[in-house]
Amino acid sequence: MRKPENFYKIDNETITIGSQPVTIDVSKEGFFVTQCGGLNHWNNVVLFEMDWEKDQYNIKICVLGEGTDGWYLHEKLPIPKSLMRTISSFKEFVIVNMVDVASNVDLTNVEPNLAGETQLDAVEKKHNVPSSSGPNVTYEVTENVGGIADLWSCTCPAYQYSKEIPQTCKHIKSINT
Ligand SMILES: [Zn+2]
Repeated sequence: MRKPENFYKIDNETITIGSQPVTIDVSKEGFFVTQCGGLNHWNNVVLFEMDWEKDQYNIKICVLGEGTDGWYLHEKLPIPKSLMRTISSFKEFVIVNMVDVASNVDLTNVEPNLAGETQLDAVEKKHNVPSSSGPNVTYEVTENVGGIADLWSCTCPAYQYSKEIPQTCKHIKSINT
């Protein structure tokens, strides 16, 4: 579907989920949902990445103040076109999704993608690094693997066979400088 012409109109709209007011903040990726009003104790914001071309959206849990760094709670969900027509139906879409988020994630905690598991000290981050050997090859570098600060991994063969301790590769080194 095409991006709804009036999509920008939802920017700064406030909705209430349970008793929690939240604000919609339109961004280039889609929109953020952030806590507002009263006691602010969320340490996360929820990013809805809207892929209008593919009619899909992702829900990403981002660390407050860290931009779009975070982890995916859901990926490639179908965009319900009927709810994109009006501001009020769009708000319904946000509420349904935020109820699902709140039932899966404690938004007051900064935690990796195993909601409710051990409190870890860092949030796993994924970086895509293009391979120097081919234009269509990309490796995925993971920072803070399993929520462990400064633990890195990469999907490239050099990392897999690295004899260094800890294992490393040029893709990790290109980011971790
Ligand atoms: Zn690598």
